Amino acid sequence: MALDLYKYVASYDNFPEKGVTFRDISPLMENGEAYHEATDKIVRYARDKKVDLVVGPEARGFIVGCPVAYDLGIGFVPARKKGKLPGKVVGASYGLEYGKSSLYIHADAVKPGQRVLITDDLLATGGTIEATIELVEKLGGIVVGTAFIIEISELKGRDKIKDYDLLSLLQY
Ligand code: 5GP
Repeated sequence: MALDLYKYVASYDNFPEKGVTFRDISPLMENGEAYHEATDKIVRYARDKKVDLVVGPEARGFIVGCPVAYDLGIGFVPARKKGKLPGKVVGASYGLEYGKSSLYIHADAVKPGQRVLITDDLLATGGTIEATIELVEKLGGIVVGTAFIIEISELKGRDKIKDYDLLSLLQY
């Protein structure tokens, strides 16, 4: 029987700032069955989309995207914070629910025409996913899907990327 994945999300009021409720997937990751089930759902979505490559933003995008890429036998590309990647990179900056940031990927990490799935743990305002999409498209990749464990619906991140297909496993 399918697990109730909502039971594997922890909520912290006033973290990292007053007024923000932080949704934490740590309990889901700590439970082998729950992690497996969440990953399987995203793998099935990626199979339908005939994905060639998974791209995920630092750091929890790696936790969601790497097992999906492994299961499909395809590559994973990390989108990293400033100063983390050596060599030639392309970048994009964005606003966060709390603060500002920028992301970078290696300039040869995505080949033109590759069908890309972007993964992250959580969709809030959509700034992170928008910047990751920008990076992939700068390199000629085609974003065929985006997948999240959690979507914070009231922050309307979905509206920011309405031209792209989106899977969220849990909504708050
Ligand atoms: P956005 O750019 O959509 O506003 O925020 C999403 C990004 O910030 C994701 O990379 C996510 O990891 C992080 N984030 C924002 N709010 C939360 C939260 O409540 N819980 C977790 N786990 N991550 C968050």
